[in-house]
Amino acid sequence: MKLSFHGADLGVTGSCHLIECAGTRILIDCGLFQGGRELDEENEAPFGFNAADIDFVLLTHAHLDHCGRLPLLAKRGFRGTVISTSATRDLARIVLLDSAHLQESEAEYHNKKGARRGEEKHYAPLYNTHDVLHSLDQFTQIVRYDHPVQIASGITATWIDAGHILGSASIVLDLNEAGKRCRLVFSGDLGSDGRKLLRDPAIPPKADVVVMETTYGDRLHKPLDLSIDELYGAIVDTFRRGGNVVIPTFALERTQEILYYLHEGVTQGKLPRSMQVFLDSPMAISATELFRQHSDCCTENAAALLQGKADPFQVPGLHFCRDAADSMAINQFSGGAVIMAGAGMCTGGRIRHHLKHNLWRQNASIVFVGFASVGTLARKIIDGARTVRVLGEDIAVKANIYTINGFSAHADRDELLAWHNHTHATHTFLVHGEEEVMRSFAQLLPAGKVSLPQTGYSVDLATYCHPKKTAKH
Ligand code: ZN
Repeated sequence: MKLSFHGADLGVTGSCHLIECAGTRILIDCGLFQGGRELDEENEAPFGFNAADIDFVLLTHAHLDHCGRLPLLAKRGFRGTVISTSATRDLARIVLLDSAHLQESEAEYHNKKGARRGEEKHYAPLYNTHDVLHSLDQFTQIVRYDHPVQIASGITATWIDAGHILGSASIVLDLNEAGKRCRLVFSGDLGSDGRKLLRDPAIPPKADVVVMETTYGDRLHKPLDLSIDELYGAIVDTFRRGGNVVIPTFALERTQEILYYLHEGVTQGKLPRSMQVFLDSPMAISATELFRQHSDCCTENAAALLQGKADPFQVPGLHFCRDAADSMAINQFSGGAVIMAGAGMCTGGRIRHHLKHNLWRQNASIVFVGFASVGTLARKIIDGARTVRVLGEDIAVKANIYTINGFSAHADRDELLAWHNHTHATHTFLVHGEEEVMRSFAQLLPAGKVSLPQTGYSVDLATYCHPKKTAKH
């Protein structure tokens, strides 16, 4: 009975954990490393295990840093089964296809540039659309929340709601090998309480070992209501000045949440009915449609709205822009529009065109509603750059810049701690966080019962087993 760590160790991205029990090998997530050029090398590096030896991949959720290396796993010989909730399977489809498309375009760009310089080196994408289609064929087992599934002899898994994005889960693994029993809980990414679209994370059962995320393990979020008011204030002020509001968005969750608040704002008379809203992201449009199909993953109130006539995403004046021509047509609006486009950190995608057209306008506003890593265009603007380089041009930053931090899809320090307290864990491994954040969160857990594993570290779970007693749900 062995647990080993192959990603998101002393870092945030690339989640991947291997369990070996009773002759079966299971991965919990197989995520992409994201955030910089040097991480491309980490993605290309060997996994640390043989892909062909893996029998199952159990997915917590469809964010790229949790499922983004699945096509690579298939390419390197994985022939087993991917198990997930149905919403995770559907979201993973659009996320992975988008990822392959981005990698193919990037390789093509570098190859063209290299050829013009006379280089002979050929850049290949990490994986292509064909590899993605292959890995999507392996999503052959769908699970429901709170229904234990026997994966193999001696291994039972239960997905419980993590409240992070549509279909997201923590995974409870009950292992039994040679008379020894061990219960592990993988937190996956945990959501924040009190959201309007998704339920609060489920209370985890008691466990022997916990592997948990620590993204925001050192800070508290601003109350949601204050953040919604701040968003409405930014829009009303900008429209009064005659400008546009540009919101760089994350396609999978934040976009739908913002649409929901815009809908509520108009219904409550806090935002003008005449407002034009452009959702300029094919991936976000597809994800919005998936919310309707998987309304059973939402709060009771949101599910009732999604199944009824009062569509919570249907803001008056909402335009879905799938193709490039629709996207370019938005440039005609110099004021009175809310423009939502990806990528959330402005590292690529259509948002760059909208920044080019609005950043230099004094009457415009850019509203950041999510986390921005150091070095990204979003972070440069947030940190007060006077001029930024966008699509090969220097653009003056004259627009009003808002950073609203209460919309996080991650639990904050106190929420993580409360979740962990329910597990009464014998031992906890912290993953998926910056190292200093992890160290700070580790101080809050019982001394001697917490570790910060490095990539490649493995542990014999028998150390934490209780031979006679089995924890009960
Ligand atoms: Zn996530």
